[in-house]
Amino acid sequence: SELASMMDVQPTQVISACMSLGIFVSINQRLDAETIAIVADEFGFEVEFVSAEVQEAIPVQEDKDEDLLPRAPIVTVMGHVDHGKTSLLDRIRNADVIAGEAGGITQHIGAYSVTLENGKRITFLDTPGHEAFTAMRARGAQVTDIAIIIVAADDDVMPQTKEAIAHAQAAGVPMIFAINKVDKPTANPDKIREQLSQMNILVEEWGGKYQCQEISAKQGLYIDELLEKVLLEAELLDLKANPNKNAVGTVIESSLDKGRGYVTNMLVEAGTLKIGDIILAGRYAGRVRAMHNEHGKNLKEAGPAVPVSILGINGAPSAGDKFYIMDDEREARSIATKREQLYREQGLRTQKHITLDEIGRRLAIGDFKELNLIVKGDVDGSIEALSDSLLKLSTDQIQVNIVHKGVGAITENDVNLASASDAIIVGFQVRPTGGAKKLAEGEQIDIRIYSIIYKAIDEIKAAMEGMLSPEI
Ligand code: GDP
Repeated sequence: SELASMMDVQPTQVISACMSLGIFVSINQRLDAETIAIVADEFGFEVEFVSAEVQEAIPVQEDKDEDLLPRAPIVTVMGHVDHGKTSLLDRIRNADVIAGEAGGITQHIGAYSVTLENGKRITFLDTPGHEAFTAMRARGAQVTDIAIIIVAADDDVMPQTKEAIAHAQAAGVPMIFAINKVDKPTANPDKIREQLSQMNILVEEWGGKYQCQEISAKQGLYIDELLEKVLLEAELLDLKANPNKNAVGTVIESSLDKGRGYVTNMLVEAGTLKIGDIILAGRYAGRVRAMHNEHGKNLKEAGPAVPVSILGINGAPSAGDKFYIMDDEREARSIATKREQLYREQGLRTQKHITLDEIGRRLAIGDFKELNLIVKGDVDGSIEALSDSLLKLSTDQIQVNIVHKGVGAITENDVNLASASDAIIVGFQVRPTGGAKKLAEGEQIDIRIYSIIYKAIDEIKAAMEGMLSPEI
């Protein structure tokens, strides 16, 4: 229909042109580029393709210098497992002087702000580890201003510490080192400084440029000093944003709540988000119906560097998706629908058409097998984590593909996609709908439900080992 109106012909003419090519289409179906070119040629048109992004009319409001006001820094804590990320985040949360007054129950909304005794505010992303950081960066979102790299003084600079440092460096995010667990008799902070120096990271005490603070997250020692250093780093960065415009920001995580519908946790980066705003977030849109902060307090508006949890979006956007405020709800929904369509098509296309590289590789191996998976889950973060781990199971002989992933119950759509792409459906903390279950039985689609990530990984790994041909 869209192509027909661009060429000013009847949709039925386009449909019959497709039919003469042996392609049977409905009026709303999207055509692939090649078909469009051939059909348009029949009608005497030449086709030029432009990127979908270009066509989206998202209004970007430019800021004048005088509109920019100081904003709180946004901080991520990264480090090796068990080095104390969670303990530190808990400690810092307790340092908030507002939390006590608010009296509300602390809720996990993916990020929280603390106001220190000097009245200064810092916002922390509270999904510890670099998985969330990387997932966001993969979508081009850079939310973090400063990274705290935590290293346990009774251990070493570990592989994940190095990874975290590499991620921060790649993103150009300044790092502050927190040497943790100094209360332990076996703590040796100098050894950590030494190991960092071997990576060309010189801390200030050693004449370098990196701020470093010894702490004990468990006993709450020197936390204020660490936060002072964060503020100092923030001052150098001279962070500013214009609060007096439509909000823009990033989705931190989203989930489906049985009673309330889709819950989206996000961070406002500039402007002010208000109740009633028409919002476009990734492939979804809606109107902000309700908004609350990490203390469960209802908010009417939220400014720069404020994390909020909102209701009103018609789906679960992914971590790292940008959100924008639009004037026209219909336009917001139409952009969202187009993005969803493109997304689904890309999902289908990537699994149907293989690249030249791929063919060469398969020929070389001679015995190549693929495992296609559809991953559904209750929370975006766990879907990302699970998908990442599953992709990493790929070996020379078996390529793991995630054909589709998303938040919510397993639907008939998922089963259809699984059938079309010969995929197994992995559900994490979600179940199939009645219809999907029936359809899956008919189509003989394997649906596997898990509630623990490593169980899912173990089982699929085992299945893959079974798939391997015996060595001769
Ligand atoms: P994460 O895996 O990096 O989030 O680490 P956690 O915060 O869960 O801490 C791992 C373990 O180290 C827990 O048993 C903590 O109680 C302990 N721990 C964390 N910080 C300290 C500290 O400063 N001193 C001591 N003695 N133990 C700590």
